Amino acid sequence: DYKYFKNAVELAKKIMKETIWPGDIVLDCTVGKGNDTLLLAELVGPLGKIYGFDVQIDALDHTKKRLKEKGLANRVRLIHDGHENISNYIKDEKIKLVVFNLGYLPTGDHNIVTKPETTIQGIKTSLELLDQNGVLLVTSYTGHIGGLEEKKIIEKFLYELNQKKYSVLKFQFINQINNPPILYGVEKLN
Ligand code: SAM
Repeated sequence: DYKYFKNAVELAKKIMKETIWPGDIVLDCTVGKGNDTLLLAELVGPLGKIYGFDVQIDALDHTKKRLKEKGLANRVRLIHDGHENISNYIKDEKIKLVVFNLGYLPTGDHNIVTKPETTIQGIKTSLELLDQNGVLLVTSYTGHIGGLEEKKIIEKFLYELNQKKYSVLKFQFINQINNPPILYGVEKLN
């Protein structure tokens, strides 16, 4: 079995574990069923805080239930709104890490997918809110309709970021079949 390089989602989790410290404030921009949210809530500890966004109320309700079961709900503010509207909720806080897991919920309505324009807006606002040495993680899927277009637009946007301000990586599993997701990682330098 894999120890290090399984897929983009697991690699993103490793980076979360490496970078998040107790007391940090982090953003989950695509909560879905809450897999990332739960891990983030554990990592920030009782003094930390998560803001979680999703446009699907059912997904948020499900996540809230999971958080309550683990006694983690009071660290997480779940917001039923799109990540393009982050700035309506968060202003002066220094964010340590932001995660986007794009596409659709495999167990939900496949027609509710992230879209390039709103994703880019969410990424832009997130980069502004990141603290020095804060990290942005974006997992991008290309196998569904619109996915490849979204990936191209994100990649172009990240490619053009000033290297004096941001360090940008692309993690791609180049020998896997069936369009494996790609993970982008950004560290804010100053
Ligand atoms: N990380 C999640 C998990 O652990 O279950 C899976 C996320 S799923 C791949 C993508 C999610 O993005 C869906 O739940 C969908 O409702 C949400 N979404 C779509 N457009 C959005 C937007 N503009 N703002 C926030 N969330 C959005």
